Amino acid sequence: MRAGSTLKRWFSSADEEVEIVPSSAKSERPAVTLAEFAERELMDRITEFLFSNDLRVSRNNLLVAHAAFSGEALGLARTIGSTVASGEKVSQEWIDSVAETLAPSKPNEAMTQLSQKLERSILLFEQSSSSAHKSTHDYGVALNNHVGEIEQANVAGAVMHNLAEIARSMIERTNRIEHEMERSQNEASALRKSLEKARREAELDHLTGLPNRRAFEGVFETQFRLAQADIEPLSVAFCDIDHFKRINDVHGHDTGDRVIQAVAQMLARISSDRCHVARHGGEEFVLLFRGLTLTEARDKLDETREQLAQRRFVNRENDEPIGSVSFSAGVANVFAYSDRREALKAADEALYKAKNNGRNQVLSA
Ligand code: GH3
Ligand code: MG
Ligand code: MG
Repeated sequence: MRAGSTLKRWFSSADEEVEIVPSSAKSERPAVTLAEFAERELMDRITEFLFSNDLRVSRNNLLVAHAAFSGEALGLARTIGSTVASGEKVSQEWIDSVAETLAPSKPNEAMTQLSQKLERSILLFEQSSSSAHKSTHDYGVALNNHVGEIEQANVAGAVMHNLAEIARSMIERTNRIEHEMERSQNEASALRKSLEKARREAELDHLTGLPNRRAFEGVFETQFRLAQADIEPLSVAFCDIDHFKRINDVHGHDTGDRVIQAVAQMLARISSDRCHVARHGGEEFVLLFRGLTLTEARDKLDETREQLAQRRFVNRENDEPIGSVSFSAGVANVFAYSDRREALKAADEALYKAKNNGRNQVLSA
């Protein structure tokens, strides 16, 4: 059985699953609201679409499928409909070209939410199919034992013979179902892994390998809670490479990219489970320091600033000197502000002051 049909059965129709999902697993599932039902329908269509067209679970494929089936892009839904109606498959090239036109207007957030929902649904499916698999297996073993007992009892008569026959055919069926369950379980876990991977990738900045801005938002929330719970200080810093446009203009964009990577690497060196670094965008980074006072956090970041400023960069494409690269930064004590946004704003204002003050420095808010 293909994952498409297996999953589809689980996602869509409640009737069909009766035989394979044990009642204990079913009864744990809460009643479905209309919105959840609509969501499940949407996921059902997306899953069906991906599998019937042999498409991977990737960002572009989810993006286009979501746009088409959520009703956001009716034109897309029509194109897909007529392709499928003509008996053809939707090609990856077509999806990629369409995804390009969708991407700028559609933030990553919707994608991440979608893949999270899919991931949760698949996890549920995996759990229920795993428990169904186990109970089917136990059932098969029990039946087998009974058949053995019947045969050993050596009771004459057609009734016992028939009973043994029926039991034997049930064992066969049970074995088949057991196999099927095992396969569904494997398919679901492969699918979940690829979704997990897609989600991890969506939180990573590809140039530097650092977490991106979206990932940072989650980290900030977690660190904020941890610091609050343990009554620890928490500081946030904005960090921006100085006169970076000049590096691009003089040495080209690729060299600019490598400078961003080098700065990212230096900042990554101070990262730990209590110091988080992310690329906020462009040539800007954002850092979180848990357990350090505002002054300690400022000093720590200032050490990196000093190390960077002392380095001399050379353009490896033509050996031309780039010279020194520096950054400016602003640090704020998160708990001195009404909320995280205000703290970020304060760090940004301190950064602005550092720039106006002559750059290559770290200022506290
Ligand atoms: P300042 O010291 O005031 O920060 O000056 P700046 O030149 O660094 O600041 P500005 O914001 O004017 O320029 C930032 C430039 O960074 C503009 C943009 O083209 C470039 N940039 C943004 N993202 C990337 C990237 O990923 N790679 C490269 N090479 N350049 C980028
Ligand atoms: Mg900037
Ligand atoms: Mg800059």
